[in-house]
Amino acid sequence: MDTWHTDRVVLLGDAAWCLTLYSGMGASTAMAGADLLGTLLQRNPGNTPRALREWDQKLHPFMALQQKSARTEGLPTFVPQTRKDKIVRTAMQKVLTNRAGKKVMTAMMDKAFKEMSIDIAAV
Ligand SMILES: Cc1cc2nc3c(=O)[nH]c(=O)nc-3n(C[C@H](O)[C@H](O)[C@H](O)COP(=O)(O)OP(=O)(O)OC[C@H]3O[C@@H](n4cnc5c(N)ncnc54)[C@H](O)[C@@H]3O)c2cc1C
Repeated sequence: MDTWHTDRVVLLGDAAWCLTLYSGMGASTAMAGADLLGTLLQRNPGNTPRALREWDQKLHPFMALQQKSARTEGLPTFVPQTRKDKIVRTAMQKVLTNRAGKKVMTAMMDKAFKEMSIDIAAV
């Protein structure tokens, strides 16, 4: 959707950006979206339309990124679509049952999560 609010009616979480389980971010973004909404209402006392407009504008680029990642990365991992997806998933499962492989994967995931984490309210 182009916008998640009309007048004073706001959609949040799955009802708005619906990242699905493929993103692994549905619960976090549902809470972050609500938290940001509270922050922007506080920052714009008496100007709800402006608060909602800012909220929408700040969240859209981030959610678009998550939606894309869910489709391109999460979906093939959870539900392999091609033979290649299946091979990659099987290889990943093998790596993750190995202690050294697990260590490497954890470090890679930590790095990826650090890169993904941004302070939306400060943007
Ligand atoms: C199998 C699965 C695995 C997942 N794994 C992860 C994960 O690892 N990490 C992650 O971050 N996210 C995960 N998610 C996604 C995450 O659960 C959702 O994105 C998150 O719960 C969305 O929160 P929400 O508050 O927007 O919606 P919901 O949690 O769906 O809350 C909506 C609430 O509204 C209630 N409701 C509906 N209609 C009405 C009505 N008419 N009147 C009153 N109440 C109503 C519902 O009963 C529900 O309690 C997963 C989802 C699934 C299905």
